[in-house]
Amino acid sequence: MSTPLHKARPAGPGRALPDTQQGMRRRNLSRVMHTVSAEGPLSRAAVASRIGLTRAAVSTLVDELIRSGLLEELGPERPGRVGRPGSALAVSGRGPAGIGAEVGVDHLAVCAVDLRGRVRSRAVRHVPNRDRSPGPVLGELTELTERVVAEAEGEGLWPAGLAVAVPGLVARDARTVVRAPNLGWLDTDLGDLLPAGLPLTVANEANFGALAELWLGEDTPRDFLHVSAEIGIGAAVVVDGRLLHGNRGFAGELGHVPVRPDGPECACGGRGCLEQYAGEEAVLRAAGLEPGEDRVGLLAGRAEQGDTNVRRALEDAGTALGIALTGAVNLLDPESVVLGGALSGLAPWLLPSLRSELARRTAGPACPVSVSPLGPEGPLLGAAHSVVRGVLDDPAAVAERA
Ligand SMILES: [Zn+2]
Repeated sequence: MSTPLHKARPAGPGRALPDTQQGMRRRNLSRVMHTVSAEGPLSRAAVASRIGLTRAAVSTLVDELIRSGLLEELGPERPGRVGRPGSALAVSGRGPAGIGAEVGVDHLAVCAVDLRGRVRSRAVRHVPNRDRSPGPVLGELTELTERVVAEAEGEGLWPAGLAVAVPGLVARDARTVVRAPNLGWLDTDLGDLLPAGLPLTVANEANFGALAELWLGEDTPRDFLHVSAEIGIGAAVVVDGRLLHGNRGFAGELGHVPVRPDGPECACGGRGCLEQYAGEEAVLRAAGLEPGEDRVGLLAGRAEQGDTNVRRALEDAGTALGIALTGAVNLLDPESVVLGGALSGLAPWLLPSLRSELARRTAGPACPVSVSPLGPEGPLLGAAHSVVRGVLDDPAAVAERA
């Protein structure tokens, strides 16, 4: 069965519900959930004043959300306040959970996040996935998912949906990986290869990384570019708190922006793409190192020890990132650029040349560049939280499935 959650894109709140009485009720349920989630614990009276409905109307909505297991009462508020003591409401620490999963070139990861945003279960497996066919990879991912779901169920949670971050281009159906060059996957419908019965959303890892930044970062602006890398380099464009998907859903392919039009050939068919200068393997090659498993750890370790070849390779990668980002910054005028994913671990050596290149080439004051505090955890957390946000956005749909 296709539920509204199933259709939810990981683009955050604001999905239109029909303008009927039912639609109004569902919107109000969502407003109550979002308010308690953001500001709770709160009394019913406090929720009513926050969202501008009568206390009676809010009580009806709250009762429905408690019956569905989405809100819980924490008991009476501290005595001594004026008026009848109200019971503080919080989003439930049991009930629905978002299951996030990540397919990386060298690893698989799954986690369960409850409605309060806490990671309740997590599993990671280091496994070389490059050029492995989708069946076995997703078989292993399914195994990890089942383990994480079982652990979450042991704590009174149930999976509201599964969101999978992949290093590749995903079609607008949010299921089909059109092309993941570093995995060697083409036109693969992940829906056929993952656990049945769970509403599924598949998206590019850079997009989930950006959403994690938006939802979990401190003081993250509403307009920013999020850049992340593994072997490839991805970016996501967030405009007014929403992901820019583009016509086919492929927006953000910063890795294939040309840095030197006559540079080396790239797997995409172009030449001199950013990935050829700032992808992890490209940097290792430039530093004269063999690509191993922990590429970022190796580069960061050598750079810390003062290895001049590694430092020079990272500085050049920063310059290449600055050149590629210049086009994006001049075109989109974001409030900031955020370095996330594996790049965040190399930021101390990338940032100086990146910043100066960007400042030199962009019009007006330089766009600030910051480093994501979520680092490599961003895509996995963003995936799990996208399911949680889906529950907050339309709790009625989830209650029907509970
Ligand atoms: Zn390319």
